Amino acid sequence: MATPYYYLPVLSPVYRTLHRRINLIRYQGNDFDCPVCMRSWSKSKPSEACPFCGSSTRQKALVIWLEKFLETRSGPLKTLLFAPDFGIERWLRKQEQIDLKTTDYSAPNVDFHCDITDIPEADESYDLILCSHVMEHIVDDQAAYQELCRILRPDGCMVIQVPYARDEAVTDEDASVTDPAERERRWGQFDHVRRYGKDIVDRMARAGLTCEVLPLSTWIHPADMERFELWDDVVFECQKKDKT
Ligand SMILES: [Zn+2]
Repeated sequence: MATPYYYLPVLSPVYRTLHRRINLIRYQGNDFDCPVCMRSWSKSKPSEACPFCGSSTRQKALVIWLEKFLETRSGPLKTLLFAPDFGIERWLRKQEQIDLKTTDYSAPNVDFHCDITDIPEADESYDLILCSHVMEHIVDDQAAYQELCRILRPDGCMVIQVPYARDEAVTDEDASVTDPAERERRWGQFDHVRRYGKDIVDRMARAGLTCEVLPLSTWIHPADMERFELWDDVVFECQKKDKT
């Protein structure tokens, strides 16, 4: 069974920094590129994750989506990032158009902590919301989608990423399952409460959001899929239904 997350102040950041520096030497090469930290790697690296910034398909896809999105908008864009990853946050902080706030339920080093079903931010206050691999942890995801819709500006945009069974019509969930081992067996991780199916679009619609389902292979060039080591994950691009 997967273990819960541990974070030791001082020690954890020092360990991670050292680990990244060692990997820079160990896996340098020209077989793959990371679009998040812009480094190049040898195929000898142990996984699809970037040995420097830790980005996997979902973080790399988010950055590629953001690059396209930022070409269509002028800043500053008030942006809220849930559950920040090292690579994504670092990339966002370098973008002049992005005015970034980070949040999480309990993780350290964010701008504010919040429960995503009760977000302490004003109505229609964000141009861009990024919420990657959070909703599969939230028991009352309908309340969370409503809150995200509430704080999104009428012309704003939101990206949702979740573990997704693209061939299943209906989301697999059961609120009575609380045993971590059973959750891992059924949904892939000890603290997941569901695996989404195609009805994720209906769930968002009920909260007032439109949702476009974007498999990576439909908007990322095959050569880039290979160069960035991406599998055909899905990004959900959402907007407020009523833009009046
Ligand atoms: Zn990287």
